[in-house]
Amino acid sequence: MNAERRIVIIGGMACGPKTAARARRCDPHASISIVEQGTTVSEGSCGLPYYIGGQVASDRALLIRTPKYFKEVSDIDVLTGTRGTVIHRDAHELEVVNLATGVTSRLPYDKLVIATGATPVQPASLAGKDLNGVFTLTKIADANAIVKALGRETTKKAVVIGAGLIGIESAEAFKSRGLDVSLVEALPHALPALLDPDMSLQVEKELATKGVNLFLGQRVLGLEGDSEGAVRRVVTEHATIEADIVILALGYRPNVELARQAGLVIGSAGGLAVNEYMQTSDSDIYAGGDCVENTHRVTGAKILAPMGSTANKHGRIIGTNVTGGRDTFPGVLGTAIVKVFDLNVSRVGLSEDEARKAGFDPVTALAPGFDRASYYPGAQLITVKLVADSATGRVLGGQITGKGEVARRADVLVTTISLNGTVDDMANLDLAYSPPFNGAMDVLHHAANTVRNKRAGQARSVSAAEVNQRISAGEDFILLDVRSQQEWNDAHIEACQCRLLPLNKLREEVSSLPKDARIVTLCRTSIRAYQAQCMLEGEGFTDVRFMDGSIMAWPYAVVCGPVK
Ligand SMILES: Cc1cc2nc3c(=O)[nH]c(=O)nc-3n(C[C@H](O)[C@H](O)[C@H](O)COP(=O)(O)OP(=O)(O)OC[C@H]3O[C@@H](n4cnc5c(N)ncnc54)[C@H](O)[C@@H]3O)c2cc1C
Repeated sequence: MNAERRIVIIGGMACGPKTAARARRCDPHASISIVEQGTTVSEGSCGLPYYIGGQVASDRALLIRTPKYFKEVSDIDVLTGTRGTVIHRDAHELEVVNLATGVTSRLPYDKLVIATGATPVQPASLAGKDLNGVFTLTKIADANAIVKALGRETTKKAVVIGAGLIGIESAEAFKSRGLDVSLVEALPHALPALLDPDMSLQVEKELATKGVNLFLGQRVLGLEGDSEGAVRRVVTEHATIEADIVILALGYRPNVELARQAGLVIGSAGGLAVNEYMQTSDSDIYAGGDCVENTHRVTGAKILAPMGSTANKHGRIIGTNVTGGRDTFPGVLGTAIVKVFDLNVSRVGLSEDEARKAGFDPVTALAPGFDRASYYPGAQLITVKLVADSATGRVLGGQITGKGEVARRADVLVTTISLNGTVDDMANLDLAYSPPFNGAMDVLHHAANTVRNKRAGQARSVSAAEVNQRISAGEDFILLDVRSQQEWNDAHIEACQCRLLPLNKLREEVSSLPKDARIVTLCRTSIRAYQAQCMLEGEGFTDVRFMDGSIMAWPYAVVCGPVK
């Protein structure tokens, strides 16, 4: 026990307060101070879109802790309205300025913690970014300014720039407030940093269905305002969109200036470099949360992972270590989850594209299925895209979308990947089963088994995107829908190549199919389509593949009606 230990923490939102609370539990006698430039601490920033959308009734609900609470319960001093300005490493002092009075002072430390977070990206070159009605979203104060703007009768059209997590949550929030909402993204797909295009298409479909105007694959050239300095238009490479309010959701940049000026090492991804103990290049200075870079647990690469989940874990580890412990942080998997209106979306580990870029030869499966027994009331569809290493079967990542339960599947994926599990491990995980919760075989089991079948050379598939391309190019092939007549009537792909031949008639009518035909089979979720592939191969057909994910993962238009 060290009665003299002085711990100073810069930043009072997620990582900082978590560090302080843990440090106090580990050392009842240390002097612990949090320096925060804002007027509040411990804001629940993750809830801001739901406050703007009206689901969270009051901003007070998002003030998780107050300085008074920290003092009374944990004897932690919180200095709000105080900015850390210089780290005097030799003297072990942090210079601070009281923002109200301008008075500077020095806080001596034995251990310093940098938890300065990140700042929303606002490109200096973006014309009109300072117009009235243009916002970023980080703090309760930002949300209150947005809510105030929404209260004006003239605020009818919102434009969100950036279709990442916060952009999409903001779009939904504005829609819940009855605005006409447009979402602009420079890359061709929504959630481009998280999902492969085939999964993004499901998100885009949901956004479009819910009335969000999508402007994908177009960079914003600038914002235009009126004579009073209020934003009126967003001009992109291909469109001019009317706007009464604009949110810039272009990502976050780690706040590392203070550390850089103190000579601490900044990593290749732009965040503060820390070791597994969350120590910076100065062993008496620790750092965590959005301002640091993390190690990706699959690739070993340094990445930014600005998530509250990660910031809190960092804080706990730092709290342990600044009080004499030796806890380590193993890294992240880039895990994320988001609600997109009625669609739940999650991703873990590497996407197919990222896996390829990291030097793997990925094998994937697209497995749609129900989140509980299909006959149980409330059962909803979800689609899992599983990404594995074709050489070893190691699970590298997964993406899940659907109206059903996705969080639990994402967490199973996290666990499997964290333990270096393979598709063989996943296929036999003893997951909980009872009809209200699951199917006897979970969608993850199906996904794992599909990858196993592919690795064994038994299952051969094509993606929906490839099938769509072949249809558009007028290629000569048979798109064999092996569902029932009723399922076809409900929804089918309209293409001259598409033909209905239900699985139970396939054997009997197989002679109606030319043996040398290129055939792509499809059903509702791929299970019957794969059976059809096996059956046709058994009959001597040589070019048969099933469409991965089948009609459930088909992101393009379908029509209803009987066979003509
Ligand atoms: C709208 C929104 C939704 C989100 N949703 C999710 C979600 O669903 N799930 C999830 O995991 N994450 C989510 N996040 C991310 C999450 O909020 C952040 O990862 C988390 O807040 C990071 O915590 P932090 O302590 O590292 O940094 P911050 O929360 O950024 O806090 C850093 C603090 O340091 C202060 N500071 C900086 N420099 C100084 C200085 N020199 N002196 C004094 N004080 C300083 C800042 O004022 C700030 O208060 C969301 C974020 C936003 C904005």
